Amino acid sequence: MSYFSDIINGTKTLLTGMRITGKYFFVNLFTRKDVITRQYPDNIDTLKMFDRYRGEVIMLHNENNEHKCDACTLCEKACPNGSIEVIGDKKINPETGKNVRFLVKHIYHLEMCTMCGLCIEACPQNAIAWGQNYHNTAYDRSKLTKVLNKPGSKIVPGLKG
Ligand code: SF4
Ligand code: SF4
Repeated sequence: MSYFSDIINGTKTLLTGMRITGKYFFVNLFTRKDVITRQYPDNIDTLKMFDRYRGEVIMLHNENNEHKCDACTLCEKACPNGSIEVIGDKKINPETGKNVRFLVKHIYHLEMCTMCGLCIEACPQNAIAWGQNYHNTAYDRSKLTKVLNKPGSKIVPGLKG
């Protein structure tokens, strides 16, 4: 008796588990709509990640190719695994006559980054943020090392640096 009840219970459990899968299978079969699986990377042109997705660290630039980084190196110090190198230099500010530090290169090693976010939290200028790029593949690890400040960019006027 318990043998047959075990079979009946097992079948019921299986059907319960397959209910959602079966529903989508038959909907797709009869409506011919591609509602179930998107085959990566076939949808790479249209796939948009959600806002909170941590794809990579980026530096924000405005429409004038200006960023907010003054090369303070707090992000570099906050990074637990050395994924960030901030290279800065000093120059005389012609308006104040003071020696100020400015950003030369903000180097980011995506290949080592664990997406912990400590660098972004540490930045007092909100100069860096999360980017939604998810297509981070390369045959050569060095291709995942990036310079976050864009060529020719400079700090937003009025910010120190
Ligand atoms: S997200 Fe974390 S691991 Fe990645 S660069 Fe920032 S501090 Fe370093
Ligand atoms: S990104 Fe932010 S924390 Fe890092 S050097 Fe620039 S201003 Fe400082």
